[in-house]
Parts: sequence; C-alpha cells; structure tokens
Amino acid sequence: MTRRPPAVRILATGGTIAGAAPSPCDTSGYRAGALPVDELLAALPALDDIRLDARQLASLDSKDALPGFWQMLAGELARAQADPDVDGVVLTHGTDTLEETAWFLHLTLALAKPLVVTGAMRPATAASADGPMNLLQAVQVAACPQAARHGVLAVLNGRIHRARHLRKAHTHRVDAFDSPEAGPAGFIQDGYVGWLSPAHRPAPRFAPETPLAPVDILFDYPGISTAMVDAVLRGGARGLVWAGYGNGSISDRIEPLLREAGRQGLAVVLATRTGAGRVGRPGTDGFIQAAGLDPYKARIALMLALAAGIPPSDLQSLFDTLSYE
Ligand code: ASP
Repeated sequence: MTRRPPAVRILATGGTIAGAAPSPCDTSGYRAGALPVDELLAALPALDDIRLDARQLASLDSKDALPGFWQMLAGELARAQADPDVDGVVLTHGTDTLEETAWFLHLTLALAKPLVVTGAMRPATAASADGPMNLLQAVQVAACPQAARHGVLAVLNGRIHRARHLRKAHTHRVDAFDSPEAGPAGFIQDGYVGWLSPAHRPAPRFAPETPLAPVDILFDYPGISTAMVDAVLRGGARGLVWAGYGNGSISDRIEPLLREAGRQGLAVVLATRTGAGRVGRPGTDGFIQAAGLDPYKARIALMLALAAGIPPSDLQSLFDTLSYE
C-alpha cells in the first residue's frame, strides 16, 4: 500500500506575514493582514511531499485580537484536529500577540496532531521578507507527527518554540522570538526537524468556550499612582496580575491596597517585570505567585482558572504545575 503524503491545513488570520507596504524598502509602514492566504501560498515553492489546503479565518492585526478571537480559533482548530483529512495544522498570526494565542490554545486544546503557529516580522512585500520561509518551515514541522507530542508550537526564524516558553523579545529583528530559561524546543533546517528537548505534552485543563474572567495586569514602577489599583477594581476585574520588581516585589505604598483588594475578592497573582525567572517570595500569604509564568501567560491562566471556578486554595498549585510540569 502506498502511503499518501501528509496533509497540512493552513488557517490564516492576518498579521505582518500577510502585510503589504507601498515599497519593498518599507518594513514598518505597512498594513497588517492585507493579503489573502492564497497570495502567501503563491510565495512558497511547490511541495511534492506535503498536501496543503488553506482557509482564511480573519485578516487581523493581532494587536486587536480579543479573548473571543482565541475562543473562535480554539473551535476552528478543534474541528481541524478532528478532520480525518488533516494530519497537521498551521495557524498564521500576527507576532504582537502570537504568544498569548499560542498559550491559550495550549491550555485548551487536546492535540492529536501537530499545531504550529507562525508569523513574520517583515511584511510580505519587503525585500527579504521572512514570511515565506517561516510559513514553509511551519508547514514542514506540522507535517512531522512527533511535533504533536510537544504541545502547541511556534516556528519562527528556523527555531521551534513551545507555547509555554515563547515570548516576543524584539521590536523588529527577524529573530524576535525566544524561549527564556528553557531555550527553543528544536530547530528546522532544509526540512530537517531537530528536537533539542524531550517531547512533553500535558493534558489541556480548560474548556475554551467558557466565558473568560476579566483579569488585568499592572506593572510596578517608581512613583506608580495608587489610583491604578482602584481603576482595576472599578473596571470589574476578577483578577489582577501584579508585574512586580525582581522576585515579584510590591512598592510599600501599593501592598496594603493589593491586600485590601484581595480581601474584597480580587485574585492577585505576583509575577515579575524582569522578563524571566521564577517568582517565589516568602511572606506573601494572601497572594498567588506566578511561579515561572510571565505576566501575560499568568493572566491567561488566571482568566481560565477563575472562569472554570477553581477555588482560590487550588490556584497556587495550578501556577506551580503550569510553570514546571
Ligand atoms: N502588528 C502586527 C500583528 O501582530 C505585527 C506582526 O504581525 O508582526 O499583527
């Protein structure tokens, strides 16, 4: 029996990978999400060993993606995963909030097949655009069955990152993404997929469709206004991620306000504004520590956990587990 070549479905949502600028010299004055997915495919070489089918789900600049967008994607991706004609899926996405979308999907989707998110730092019209190679390599990783065992992945600039660690860390370089602490999960070169860490894919914990709990993030800085905490409470948040100094420290003027907000029922998670490292401060009873999750990932975990009705006494172990499982 001859085996059929793997089939990869591309779901397109816009971003710079589909961006168009008036001139090929322009890498920042462009419109994100301007080009349809068929034009992105036209920039790829013919692939004899992978069958592609592509669908346009949205044409967004991902700075405007809302939590409802993540939920819509989770539904589409679950359907693609269940389709017997699909062996792997690539999601094209703007880079600005790619890490948030990938993390939400990681926490909510049971993956039976590879799911790879990709984007680009330069618009499709730029001289030396990075989108076509990123898309090609994302397709090649999505066609590789082992990829499903690593959870939701992102492929950018030849590196394979796990959703758990992925972070956009530069404003314009094509190697804008990294995985602080962990390093990339692997690499792809000329179709060769190399894994740098063992496969590991914990089960999803949350149903994507439950309406998400509103959670805000505040960053500490010298002279922060005490009105910020009030604004979060008045805005109706159920949770707050405090991106504190160093190991999650809180300015003395702010700490009593956060404690009072906690007594009023706000779930307060201490994270760090440093960009990497575990938060585990002694003497912070009443607060949850983000452990290894950065403020953006901690926020999404809290939005899902509160929506799922996880009791406050279980939140700390959830953050510990999500960080280092
Ligand atoms: N603003 C764009 C977006 O996130 C940036 C990008 O895709 O690189 O859609």
